[in-house]
Amino acid sequence: PAEAELEALQHADVARLLPVPAAESDKYRRGVVGIAAGSARYPGAAVLAVAGALRGGAGAVRYVGPAAEAVIARFPETLVSDRGPAKAGRVQAWVTGPGAGDDAATVAEVLASEVPVLLDADGLRLAERDAVRARTAPTLMTPHAGEAAALLGVAREEVEGARLAAVRELAAVYRATVLLKGSTTLVADAAGGAVRVNATGTGWLATAGSGDVLSGLAGSLLASGLAARDAGSVAAYLHGLAGRFAAEGAPAGAHDVADRIPSAWRDVR
Ligand code: AMP
Ligand code: MG
Repeated sequence: PAEAELEALQHADVARLLPVPAAESDKYRRGVVGIAAGSARYPGAAVLAVAGALRGGAGAVRYVGPAAEAVIARFPETLVSDRGPAKAGRVQAWVTGPGAGDDAATVAEVLASEVPVLLDADGLRLAERDAVRARTAPTLMTPHAGEAAALLGVAREEVEGARLAAVRELAAVYRATVLLKGSTTLVADAAGGAVRVNATGTGWLATAGSGDVLSGLAGSLLASGLAARDAGSVAAYLHGLAGRFAAEGAPAGAHDVADRIPSAWRDVR
């Protein structure tokens, strides 16, 4: 591809984009991120998405779903609600899909909201294409190659062999910003233009739950007011660095990656 088709965020670009609370800020002005994820079968996905979201700059994290007990046990600062996303209270951006299992109703309810939505994992499969296309607020979809292939109706190898074309096509078809995960991360907007590429990651990030942390982190940046393309590419940048800091040549779990997000943030600042 021509150079102009790809652009990489530099350290300084990321530093400029990171949200900083104003002196007179409060938690609502900093943004509330809603996490509608997890299921009885996959409570850990909710915990990891919250772990990422708490380090993403939002002033509060609100959790809605069946994993509330597990979330609160690990992160007591989470606001939990036993009502659905539509009635959960103030939220500036939603994350849905990680560990969702087959809860299509929650995904549909989140997509019907008028705030930015991050759609990942099971949510990518459960979402109606037209419900995504009809959204008026930004949507950020975060598939890995297998999920992208399923959405496009092609083999995984086809996506892996033409990642730039795949991320652009998905963005156009869904009228969404699409972040394609892998050893490098590509972020494409529906309107076209240069695709952002991130290469701060490490193979150690290929570990269960790693994507759930990224979802929460990017959702938190969306709630802080970043545009979908910036939220996605800044999240990928920080997540990649956090993965390096967590691993340092030895295996690390996804929760270790979440724990290193603040170090990544300080490294950028
Ligand atoms: P998921 O597949 O949803 O768990 O997400 C995996 C996360 O780890 C994504 O952010 C990927 O970009 C990242 N990742 C996976 N494999 C690699 C790799 N080989 N090098 C760098 N990052 C990776
Ligand atoms: Mg995943």
